[in-house]
Amino acid sequence: MSGSGLLKCWQDVPPGTVTFGATSREVETGLWRSMRPVLDAAKCVSCLKCWLQCPDASITTDSDARVTGIDFFFCKGCGVCAKVCPAGAISMCPESDFLSAPAEASRGASPGKAGELFGA
Ligand code: SF4
Ligand code: SF4
Repeated sequence: MSGSGLLKCWQDVPPGTVTFGATSREVETGLWRSMRPVLDAAKCVSCLKCWLQCPDASITTDSDARVTGIDFFFCKGCGVCAKVCPAGAISMCPESDFLSAPAEASRGASPGKAGELFGA
């Protein structure tokens, strides 16, 4: 298959583009979000299903393992947390509902900036 057209064998594919480790902490995946999980703390029964299932480890907890909120720097708005919550404590709302929110509340505390990393 090599050199014959669009398809290549795996040996022809260039090496991946990850150039150094631990970069995922710097990538603001929250920028992808079109829907936002909203936590109703009064309904939460601290089962931690959302914390366990969140693919981006965006559910934050305190030292007593109670859910304290959502890290919007990483939360992609996939809705898994709302789906698995047995108490209906998480609702998914359009990001457009939060356009007037301060940037910090909208994007979350910033542990790193993708713009700096990639020279933007
Ligand atoms: S919407 Fe998805 S990424 Fe965001 S907190 Fe819920 S499970 Fe995690
Ligand atoms: S899944 Fe729902 S009830 Fe369980 S910890 Fe998360 S928000 Fe609370």
